[in-house]
Amino acid sequence: MSAMAVDQNGTSNSRPPSQQAQIQPCRYKTGKTLGAGSYSVVKECVHIDTGRYYAAKVINKRLMAGREHMVRNEIAVLKKVSMGHQNILTLVDYFETMNNLYLVTDLALGGELFDRICRKGSYYESDAADLIRATLSAVAYLHDNGIVHRDLKPENLLFRTPEDNSDLLIADFGLSRIMDEEQFHVLTTTCGTPGYMAPEIFKKSGHGKPVDIWAIGVITYFLLCGYTPFDRDSNLEEMQAILVADYSFTPIEYWRNVSTTAREFIKRCLTIDGNARMTAHEALQHPWIADTQDEQMGEDLLPTVKKNFNARRTLHAAIDTIRAINQLRAGQGAAMMDGAMSKNPERHNGQGQGQGGGGGGGMEGVTNMVMDSRGHGRGQTEEMIKEQERKIRDTTNGMWSAR
Ligand code: ADP
Ligand code: MG
Repeated sequence: MSAMAVDQNGTSNSRPPSQQAQIQPCRYKTGKTLGAGSYSVVKECVHIDTGRYYAAKVINKRLMAGREHMVRNEIAVLKKVSMGHQNILTLVDYFETMNNLYLVTDLALGGELFDRICRKGSYYESDAADLIRATLSAVAYLHDNGIVHRDLKPENLLFRTPEDNSDLLIADFGLSRIMDEEQFHVLTTTCGTPGYMAPEIFKKSGHGKPVDIWAIGVITYFLLCGYTPFDRDSNLEEMQAILVADYSFTPIEYWRNVSTTAREFIKRCLTIDGNARMTAHEALQHPWIADTQDEQMGEDLLPTVKKNFNARRTLHAAIDTIRAINQLRAGQGAAMMDGAMSKNPERHNGQGQGQGGGGGGGMEGVTNMVMDSRGHGRGQTEEMIKEQERKIRDTTNGMWSAR
């Protein structure tokens, strides 16, 4: 009966067997995959009785061994806060089957934050401010309830609908904790995504609510230029940069059209001392957020943001490919290796990467093959990007022909 260890409240079950939740056949039909993490898959699903559509985060129990507390935490957090704010993803249902845990939430039909921005026709600083305002408002609500999200990043910000005026939703509470205000104000587990992590997380000096504001500073920077402020060649260098808040609004060609108020807002978020950083409520009062400009301010940022973002995305795809190749070379799965060797590179990176090399995609944009394992595209000048593309072509051509 280990499958019954979690009851409908997501708490440890000590009630007699007769009162325990029963394992039931799934009342939902799952459809296409919406996203995937390290031990969960998010699928579209439809409730069989009502015909309503939802998203189900499906977590395989086998992969969760020893980490069930993280799920229970996520359920407890979602339960506590999900109904209370229009910018937070609502948990609709929770249940288990023999093999899986299911978290059923509202379906966010509008997709992830950045994909949506890239699909827009134009994008102004005031649009970025609107998105950050919505995020901050939800974060202020979480903080007022003693909850630190701890994993704020663009992939965890989803739009409710495809409409232009759609709500932005904070999703993925997997790493958050309900803070026990009486027990401790400071949390000391290291977690999160390096690029968005606050200095105090590395210093192990504890991390409470201010880590979310730091992450919002990183997100804001990213929303205005298409790359993150602490991108370096290795995790270590990135961490060192974060510790001393070593970032700048460069290359200037990408920051020329961004206001000083926006930069000032970012500075107030990327303050090393967590106690000196703005709080969520202070951030909501900052002129960049509070003084709403109705008319579109400054220049259209979309061309720059899109270009830099795509360079970064390309790098991600390339790094996945290279990682897979390195695994194969390390001798993992001899059978798979035969398959990989006989296949065209397209299969791995989803793009042709032939001699011509135009077109933006595939392997272009990778710095070099001594890969930093992370996948970030720094803000680069045109020249730097061209040089990179040349290197990549040379290296990848060499790599594929060598096999
Ligand atoms: P993980 O813990 O694996 O990061 P997330 O909850 O962040 O899981 O979900 C992974 C991805 O799945 C998200 O980045 C998003 O693209 C997609 N996704 C998650 N929840 C929903 C939802 N309710 N509606 C639509 N897409 C979703
Ligand atoms: Mg996520």
